[in-house]
Amino acid sequence: MLDVCLPGTGGMMPLPERHLATMTCRCGGYTILVDCGEGTQVALRRQKISAFDIGLILITHMHADHVSGLPGLLLMIAATERSEPVTIIGPPPIAAYVKCLKVIVPYLPYELNVMELPPATVPLDCDPIFQIGDMTVAPFLLQHRIPCFGYTIVVQRYPEFDAAAAERLNIPVRYWNLLQQGQDVIGPQGEAWRSEDVLGPPRPGIKVVYCTDTRPFDGIVQRAHKADLFICEGMYGDLAERERLYEKSHMLMQDAAVIAAAAEAKLLWLTHFSPANPDPAQYLTELQQIFPATVVSKDGERVELKFP
Ligand SMILES: [Zn+2]
Ligand SMILES: [Zn+2]
Repeated sequence: MLDVCLPGTGGMMPLPERHLATMTCRCGGYTILVDCGEGTQVALRRQKISAFDIGLILITHMHADHVSGLPGLLLMIAATERSEPVTIIGPPPIAAYVKCLKVIVPYLPYELNVMELPPATVPLDCDPIFQIGDMTVAPFLLQHRIPCFGYTIVVQRYPEFDAAAAERLNIPVRYWNLLQQGQDVIGPQGEAWRSEDVLGPPRPGIKVVYCTDTRPFDGIVQRAHKADLFICEGMYGDLAERERLYEKSHMLMQDAAVIAAAAEAKLLWLTHFSPANPDPAQYLTELQQIFPATVVSKDGERVELKFP
């Protein structure tokens, strides 16, 4: 099961009634946070999301509305007395930025690692680059004014374990768990047991795709293909804003709905609304005509996704 929450859904600046866009994915005691604008720690508190479990912070890009809450968040995690490492992944200059933060956040009770993504070379079909618990993370390049990445988060589902086959092969039960996780095992008498001999066919996991900030392009359709949840920016719903938005490398809510439909996603959550779009829900009927499973997210939007 994967618990997904949007503690904030705003773009550009935090508002009294709308925090900046951020997402949490929680599974099996592990939490991934995506983007950390000003006030993210307040947004997390409001949703009662513990900072203790945040082991991975994904940054889409280095605009202030996506990173300026990082020092406060690192201190918030420190206040929980977490001692397990925390990793931050993002495009350049994330490493230089985190180094600067150490001036105001010099002591942390946990190890802080930074993985800087190559600025413009991650292909659309790249393999996952990081795993935390059962969740894997794969970045993909978006089209924004500066290097910007979307992220695909997948909860893996192990194939079904064939207990009858394991019994036929006389494999002791204590090795079944390892074999189910895809590991081959050498038994006490040197027996070589292969996981493929006791596992069924692969089973689809849970797929969440997070995509902001970007102008619309076909590559997003590929990445969001059959996603259980596609989370995408939609700055405005007023069609007259289209040209101006594309110039600024953003998209309309309607563009996101068109992408969700083409990608055959199961659910679309819109986020990163402009402060000049105070009532994005007014476009809901129009958006659902393009893609029926569209949600104009509010802060605190939440779902528990389960394996099919
Ligand atoms: Zn932004
Ligand atoms: Zn931006």
